[in-house]
Amino acid sequence: MRQDRKIPFVDLVAQHKELESELLDVIKGTLHTAAFIGGPAVEGFERDFAKFCNTKVCAGVSSGTDALRFALIAAGIRPGDIVLTVPLTFIATTEAITQVGACADFVDIDAVTYTMDVERLRHYLAHQCKLDLETGKLIHKKNGRPVTAIVPVHLYGQPADMDPILEIASRYKLIVIEDACQAHGAEYFSSNEKNWRKAGSMGQAAAFSFYPGKNLGACGEGGAVTTNDENLARKVRMLRDHGQAKKYYHELEGYNGRLDALQAGILRAKLSRLAGWNQMRREAAGHYTELLAPMADLLGIPREPSWARSNYHLYVIRSAERDRLLDHLTGEGVGVGIHYPVPVHLQRPYRERGFQQGDFPESEKAAQEILSLPMYPQLKIEDQVRVVEAIREFYLAKPTKGSNSRNQQFASVRNSSTE
Ligand SMILES: *Cc1c(COP(=O)(O)O)cnc(C)c1O
Repeated sequence: MRQDRKIPFVDLVAQHKELESELLDVIKGTLHTAAFIGGPAVEGFERDFAKFCNTKVCAGVSSGTDALRFALIAAGIRPGDIVLTVPLTFIATTEAITQVGACADFVDIDAVTYTMDVERLRHYLAHQCKLDLETGKLIHKKNGRPVTAIVPVHLYGQPADMDPILEIASRYKLIVIEDACQAHGAEYFSSNEKNWRKAGSMGQAAAFSFYPGKNLGACGEGGAVTTNDENLARKVRMLRDHGQAKKYYHELEGYNGRLDALQAGILRAKLSRLAGWNQMRREAAGHYTELLAPMADLLGIPREPSWARSNYHLYVIRSAERDRLLDHLTGEGVGVGIHYPVPVHLQRPYRERGFQQGDFPESEKAAQEILSLPMYPQLKIEDQVRVVEAIREFYLAKPTKGSNSRNQQFASVRNSSTE
């Protein structure tokens, strides 16, 4: 069923066409005032984004990586600390931890949600750590380093199971910094609070990325820290601007990590569409899930727990024959991706620290099997049907291991869905 028109993995041009005149106004306004750094555009966006995330404050920064780094420093993470996160994430999560001088350690993921496995977190803290009787601090039994923070990652836009994570963190006095870089607008139902809570509003602070491909993307780089702690936000504002509280008065050594005014203006215009775009992604995800349902015994289909409202930054399926399926879909003109093919602990810098194959089996298995399908708000249902048809062809064409019933089953699926 080769067709000429390719289905892209992501289409960023569509949103810019939709917003072209607004974006051009932002660019013109910036050129005419030459207000490139700070100023009302940045402050306005910060206010709007804090409101969107249901947090008191937001500080715009230059990237998601800097947002993580500044949030960790401002929350009090110190060189030598151990910070826990998951192996199935983008390397920026662990880079930021290292840049603070801390040491990343890992808790494996839950195979269904792809987010931090709460039982494994409990196990790690109970068995690999102990309370130092002198300082009252939690320390790692093997290396004596203090364990001070957890960075749960809301991967693919699916929130981590925050109620138990926050409970565990408060029991052990650990700081929680959410990596919400993929989770703009995602929601978590807190049974404790009997309320839906926005990603980025649950930890002491959270980091967002506005890399162009994220649900809210700049026309360049950008990021933000959200928090309810004004003092933490004040520190982030100093860190992003060379540690100055006032021009040329430096309270500490900081970084050059500001959000451009131009990007802030662009993000502010796009933010007004974000809830709608996320809703369109959720509908597209619903279509995929329905179309793929007949293949549920061959493929892993995303499952959203009752406490999660994903923003479907990515729609990720699982296949035991992922690499061949990827080749087939690519050949059919379907853009696909793998997020991520190598779990962080098996990337070279972490192998060099002693991590190895077998350390985190769920993340390792997922990395072999996951496949991200085309996903963006303007994705058309016809294109989704074509994507799923291409997946079905792959399984039909495949020489089966003596199971005719499968072919039969798919023949009937095909008939019923191509009417
Ligand atoms: C994109 C991303 C980051 C880093 O964001 P940048 O803006 O590219 O620095 C961090 N963590 C996760 C999970 C991400 O997806």
